[in-house]
Amino acid sequence: MALPTPILLDATPACTRRRFIRLLPIGAALGLPVVHGKPKPAPPPDPSTFAQLDERDPHAKAVGYVEDVARVDRRVYPKFTAGSTCDNCALYRVPAQAWSECTLFPRKRVAARGWCDAYVRRAAP
Ligand code: SF4
Repeated sequence: MALPTPILLDATPACTRRRFIRLLPIGAALGLPVVHGKPKPAPPPDPSTFAQLDERDPHAKAVGYVEDVARVDRRVYPKFTAGSTCDNCALYRVPAQAWSECTLFPRKRVAARGWCDAYVRRAAP
């Protein structure tokens, strides 16, 4: 018992070219989304749109982050030294900015005049 030949696989010499030409647009239409449908990687987010870190954020509280270095409780954080601020911390991304990203708080910005207990002095250039 012979199985019916699918129409796309019927390669009778008399109609192969005609069938190919007729099916070409269908193949192209089916193929285009595959070629052009590759997802593009999302552009990197604009750091200037990141929210400012709230001092009440549990992660910020855990390291004693304050937006204004004048409010550092020196009894709780005795390792704090005068002149230590986020903008001269190694984890602060753009020292020239008043608010910038900190490696410790992804997708948030911290204040240049802030400080936290994870402070690491930036090495001199
Ligand atoms: Fe500021 Fe450095 Fe603490 Fe980040 S790690 S909040 S830049 S002191």
